[in-house]
Amino acid sequence: KTKRMTDLEIANKAAIKPITEIAQSAQIPLEAIEQYGKFKAKIDINQLKNVASGKVVLVTATSPTPAGEGKSTVTVGLADALKQLNQKVMVALREPSLGPVMGIKGGATGGGYAQVIPMEEINLHFTGDLHAITTANNALAAIIDNHIHQGNELQIDPRRIIWKRVLDLNDRALRNVIVGLGGPVQGVPREDGFDITVASEIMAIFCLATSLENLKERLGNIVIGYSYDREPVFVRDLGVEGALTLLLKDAFKPNLVQTLEGTPAIIHGGPFANIAHGCNSIVATETARKLADIVITEAGFGADLGAEKFMNIKARQGGFAPSAVVVVTTIRALKMHGGVAKSELSVENVEAVEIGIANLEKHVDTVRAFGVEPIVSLNRFITDTEHELEIVLNWAKENNIRIARTNVWEEGGKGGLALAKEVLEVLDQPQNFHHLYETSDSVEQKITAIVQKVYGGLGVQFTDHAKKQIAQIERFGWDILPVCMAKTQYSLSDQPTLIGRPENFVITVREIIPKLGAGFLVCLTGDIMTMPGLPKQPAALRMDIDKDGEAIGLF
Ligand code: ADP
Repeated sequence: KTKRMTDLEIANKAAIKPITEIAQSAQIPLEAIEQYGKFKAKIDINQLKNVASGKVVLVTATSPTPAGEGKSTVTVGLADALKQLNQKVMVALREPSLGPVMGIKGGATGGGYAQVIPMEEINLHFTGDLHAITTANNALAAIIDNHIHQGNELQIDPRRIIWKRVLDLNDRALRNVIVGLGGPVQGVPREDGFDITVASEIMAIFCLATSLENLKERLGNIVIGYSYDREPVFVRDLGVEGALTLLLKDAFKPNLVQTLEGTPAIIHGGPFANIAHGCNSIVATETARKLADIVITEAGFGADLGAEKFMNIKARQGGFAPSAVVVVTTIRALKMHGGVAKSELSVENVEAVEIGIANLEKHVDTVRAFGVEPIVSLNRFITDTEHELEIVLNWAKENNIRIARTNVWEEGGKGGLALAKEVLEVLDQPQNFHHLYETSDSVEQKITAIVQKVYGGLGVQFTDHAKKQIAQIERFGWDILPVCMAKTQYSLSDQPTLIGRPENFVITVREIIPKLGAGFLVCLTGDIMTMPGLPKQPAALRMDIDKDGEAIGLF
């Protein structure tokens, strides 16, 4: 038996086309293309005159397990399949963060024969967008500390600064730090901390802004902390929204790449879905909607996280609606939700699949609660047995749920044709999309709606600290914003170990952080962290480069 090629080997062997050719196939005028090397380009959106009218297909999944679900893989494979069916289609994905790349999860470019390329570059520094966002974030931090050092005209209370520094790496040692040590010339000492870049409000703003002007306005609206009189201090009070926008000007243009089958793909913006809103940029989605009839996009983790935020935050702010939702699952993931250990996944276990289906069922119900028709993509792994597959296929049939076996990892677009046909049928139907709460609802009502309708929990418990914060948010009139839940991705509850479809649980909200620029309130639940740590055996240990500059071990 020959050894299977790794994702990296498949990607590197691909006959990659010059990006100008991909641009031409997508009917992007050449004057709108700014090349970053041969295979990547930024799109100058001001040069695109078309109306955004493409339909959006959202790809989500069951609650992630260490077995991996394959959302990006299916997103890419589905687009390639639609292209094979002569549809004008484009992919819109998030940019990878180096935290997971060097850590545990791996990249974000799909896998097997359903990948976006050049995978190595996309997974490492790509076109530098994450570095630009990191720099803008930290420029603001430096300006805040300098303002205090130079006399603190705005009377910023150093104990009440909520703006943190960021880094695009998993680095738990930086979660809590003290800055400004060393005497009067080194600034004013205060407690600070680092988040990962993809949790930064600037990343969220970058992804939700609709134009450069809107980007600047939103950056000006960021609340960096409070004064000694407990009044909010905004970036516009510091007068640096122009400088921050300037730092982001090139990054803000969406990036064009291609799939292994030459389907155009836009990869732009990359907030995590557990600690941020989890969707690629509105600019990217809208650009793709201008260029294609169908846009396949993905939101992070399960439908309780990325998809919920896609619907309640991104679609609301972007003024569009998803026309179909694909829920990716695997037999392996369902078995883990049914209680099987990772080491036992290659052994047939029909009972575990039957139990684990409960998790899939909840995510399907959630999509229906938004008024959109779900299509289950059963992402085939070579270890799946026919018995196990039949359990899921029969369950779908009995419950009138669309489902398609998907084999894009092994076969590319061809393995996604069944899924593509289901998607096309759904796109022809009228949908009844609606949000699950109104922004005029109270903060408690909004969070309770998500907990009950999306997580399937009983209700919410607020810590005293969170209650005080809600009172403050109401005092400033910020309670009209949607909420962005920060919750573990592993469970529908806030306890990572409660897999499957837990019931009768209560979610604890411990902190609410206003993000006025992004236009939402981040609600931290359970023990979720905004700066991840590295695992005992980080992916970095397997990475290398040979003397010719070939990457090794990038998945
Ligand atoms: P997600 O987007 O849900 O995080 P990805 O699409 O990034 O998942 O896939 C995670 C990993 O699983 C990738 O390394 C990919 O190659 C692998 N993978 C996905 N689908 C399959 C499959 N059907 N068979 C084998 N490996 C797969």
